Amino acid sequence: MSATLTNWIGGQKQAASAGKTLDNICPATNTCISTIPRSGAVDIDNAVAAARKALKGPWRTSTAAERAGYLETIANTIEARLEEFAQAESRDTGKPVALAKSVDIPRAIANFRFFAGAIRHDETGCHSMPDAINYTVRKPVGIVGLITPWNLPLYLLTWKTAPALAMGNTIIAKPSELTPTTATLLAEVIHEAGVPAGVFNLVHGLGQEAGQAIVGHPAIRGVSFTGGTTTGAHVAASAAPHFKKLSLELGGKNATLVFDDCDLDKAVSGALRAAFANQGQICLCGSRILVQEGIYDAFVERFTNQAKGLTVGDPTAASTNIGAVISQAHRDKVEQYVAVAREEGGTVVAGGKRPTLNGPFADGAFFEPTVITDVDETCRITQEEVFGPLVTIQRFSNADDAVRIANTVRYGLSASVWTGNLDTAHKVSARLDTGMVWVNTWLHRDLRVPFGGVKDSGVGREGGTWSLEFFSEAQNICVYLGDN
Ligand code: NAP
Repeated sequence: MSATLTNWIGGQKQAASAGKTLDNICPATNTCISTIPRSGAVDIDNAVAAARKALKGPWRTSTAAERAGYLETIANTIEARLEEFAQAESRDTGKPVALAKSVDIPRAIANFRFFAGAIRHDETGCHSMPDAINYTVRKPVGIVGLITPWNLPLYLLTWKTAPALAMGNTIIAKPSELTPTTATLLAEVIHEAGVPAGVFNLVHGLGQEAGQAIVGHPAIRGVSFTGGTTTGAHVAASAAPHFKKLSLELGGKNATLVFDDCDLDKAVSGALRAAFANQGQICLCGSRILVQEGIYDAFVERFTNQAKGLTVGDPTAASTNIGAVISQAHRDKVEQYVAVAREEGGTVVAGGKRPTLNGPFADGAFFEPTVITDVDETCRITQEEVFGPLVTIQRFSNADDAVRIANTVRYGLSASVWTGNLDTAHKVSARLDTGMVWVNTWLHRDLRVPFGGVKDSGVGREGGTWSLEFFSEAQNICVYLGDN
């Protein structure tokens, strides 16, 4: 029997006001594991009322130290329930439990601990004049909306929730309807930590209904959105007339640049991880590998062999490298891109099809890790975000050529550069049109650094002080000291 998940509004569990529900399907088994409220504008109005009330209550005068204490309690509770959170994340997403246990849930815990520390050590500026002194105070934005995708559900929701709470805001969060469970567990944990009712409100539902109602609600003064570029454009257009603060973390088509002088073993394993981690469903995944001609053949051979050696299947098995993608519809999309690549002259050198699995996984949304060569930067397969276990490999001649190819796409989120030459590392990194570059590594994260993209990959930065700034309004106070 499947579970019934609820919204959390004003500290209370609630069904959708219209009584509607949605099925939550486990992509690995294609079975319904829970139902969630299909909320709409009325539920968002109710959440706004609760969030507005909470802004006038004890939360308004809470100190940074008190809020840091809540964040630490939340972190400790998630840590104590890590196994339960990891199992739930795997069931909703299809990702290996081992990945959820080693990456998703530990990172959610780290997000709360990091922002507890950040708010304790936060500083603001002071600007002296001969006859006056200016100082800056940070105030909460007010009610903020957090809209998150399905690929890293708790990881990304907590990346927004922790700084929003740290700065004293009240929250209306809407996770992807495909991955509602860990957000529901989080609401429970926040409630149990003693955070006042109405400070964190969770509203489940579809993007075009509950999400749209958040973006268009005049009382919600800021929206932090992570998701696809097309949705991001729609969110920006809907939020603009209300002059909301907006942070947009959007799609990517990131390049992995591999130079002749790299450590080949490390570059192959780094590029493999960048291509296929989380079934290739991380915005930062290196889905375009560019390899210098001197090592191209050796790289393709090693990379392809290693891709073929990845184990696809049961997300609960410790030996599994690749779980299910998020849904059967998404698996079909990845499959269609293989057909597109073939039409464009591409050669599928690994994968390219659904694996044959038995038992409970026979009807799951699995796809083999897929490697495609013989395509160039004019192809759709190298330009469009597939967001699945599919990677292309292209050849380049020199650094100018590599930078040119890397920068041809509309996106500008991240890149990784693999080289043994310090000069190449610095010069090529600086010429890449991306918000982030890793050298001889990938997804090596320090939570203090700016995170975000350029071009169609987004607007704004999150991380460290950037998150604290986004979730606050700076106010300048100028005190006149007199004429003498
Ligand atoms: P999506 O379809 O854009 O959805 C993201 C969120 O927006 C979901 O909660 C969705 O709700 C909601 N939404 C949809 N339409 C909306 C609307 N009109 N108004 C308000 N909210 C709306 O993205 P996704 O398929 O979940 O996630 C994959 C994408 O996210 C990829 O493009 C990936 O690159 C990107 N991503 C970017 C980052 C980053 O940091 N740059 C990180 C992770 C993922 P429902 O799904 O419930 O309808």
